Amino acid sequence: MKVACVGGGPASLYFSILMKRMDRSHDITVYERNPVGSTYGWGVTYSDELFDNLHGADPESARAIADSSVRWDSWQVDVHERATVMMDNADVGMGISRHRLLDILAERAGSLGVRVEYEREIGGEEELADADLIVAGDGVNSALRERHADHFGTKVDVGRNVYTWLGTSKVFDTFTFAFVTTEHGWIWYYGYNFSADHSTVVVECAPETWKGLGLDEANESDGLAILEKLFAETLEGHPLIGRAHADGSAQWLTFRTLTNRTWHRGNLVLAGDAAHTTHYSVGAGTALALGDAAILVHALHSETELPRALRAYERERRSAIRGARKAARNSSRWYENLPRYIEMPPLEMVTLLGLRHSSVMPYLPPKVYYRAGQTINWLGSVISQALPGRRH
Ligand SMILES: Cc1cc2nc3c(=O)[nH]c(=O)nc-3n(C[C@H](O)[C@H](O)[C@H](O)COP(=O)(O)OP(=O)(O)OC[C@H]3O[C@@H](n4cnc5c(N)ncnc54)[C@H](O)[C@@H]3O)c2cc1C
Repeated sequence: MKVACVGGGPASLYFSILMKRMDRSHDITVYERNPVGSTYGWGVTYSDELFDNLHGADPESARAIADSSVRWDSWQVDVHERATVMMDNADVGMGISRHRLLDILAERAGSLGVRVEYEREIGGEEELADADLIVAGDGVNSALRERHADHFGTKVDVGRNVYTWLGTSKVFDTFTFAFVTTEHGWIWYYGYNFSADHSTVVVECAPETWKGLGLDEANESDGLAILEKLFAETLEGHPLIGRAHADGSAQWLTFRTLTNRTWHRGNLVLAGDAAHTTHYSVGAGTALALGDAAILVHALHSETELPRALRAYERERRSAIRGARKAARNSSRWYENLPRYIEMPPLEMVTLLGLRHSSVMPYLPPKVYYRAGQTINWLGSVISQALPGRRH
């Protein structure tokens, strides 16, 4: 099969690896518009479960990913001038530099015989007329998808808060949240380590706070200076590092949650962020893109006809991502409604932060939700102690 993958992100590269592993005779080219090593973003998180899946699918790239990852198992939540709450064993996760991840995947793809062409922007399928299959792994703003937006039934829900994805030389030893109050409202970040000398910092706030602090008009370096001052305590004086636009302006965005009514059109199929996005606060988009790649390869080798394979892929992935999408929606709304939770006693607020994926929490007074959770936990421990055969 002759395959063209548009975009050199996790979805396309991993698809090309697994496709070649399945059958070396496939002729695969990945087209990436940017130069090699110039991707956006800093570190990305992933779970043990994802690592097990990667190991099962391609042990070579999984080992290289593990060797370049760092691990954490606790949280630190700093609530401005009120408390620092430590949660041991709150959440176990891994972080890896997005650059490094893409280097590993591109190198592995190359070693299997995939051609990876950088600085090749694809404007439409007519440029790939001889391909049997075109994988649109060209991200949230997919040009291939947008040309057929009516067919794909693309819908975009734009989040209210603004965010920026930064790096820092501060090496966090836990997954760290810092909430800071200002005269214009709360601003916060979460940060995690992804290498021996750098961490990721994702800063978020409501648009009124952003404007009130002058971040909407500040150029990148002035904006970073404002943030460094606000977060000086938890950054311990380390600088924040951004990636300015060509005109020097800062990269502040609102998150776009994207869905499509269908994921394929003829021999064109969407994968990863081109098909669906999940809010960054659940750290799942890369994992879902890799999962799409694996299931698409599986469907192409299980079904004899392309249309059936693409339908099977879409059916399976739609259902697999449902839970993550719901969690992401609830999580983004939790942050958008931060004033509802932030004045609670710090331990209660931090507990609810950890439960922000809940669909029920927005409908109950936060205190009631918190107490109900405590009661359920207490009852659970009483019942499990009382079960026959339980050792006390
Ligand atoms: C702030 C933030 C934090 C995040 N943190 C995490 C995290 O911790 N864990 C996690 O799992 N996910 C995280 N994500 C999500 C993750 O980055 C994406 O879901 C993931 O990168 C999607 O992979 P993809 O391959 O579909 O698309 P992308 O990674 O976006 O790759 C698309 C590629 O296509 C290229 N391209 C676009 N158009 C063309 C064209 N016309 N021709 C050629 N090339 C083209 C682009 O240059 C790009 O390299 C985060 C996202 C954000 C915004």
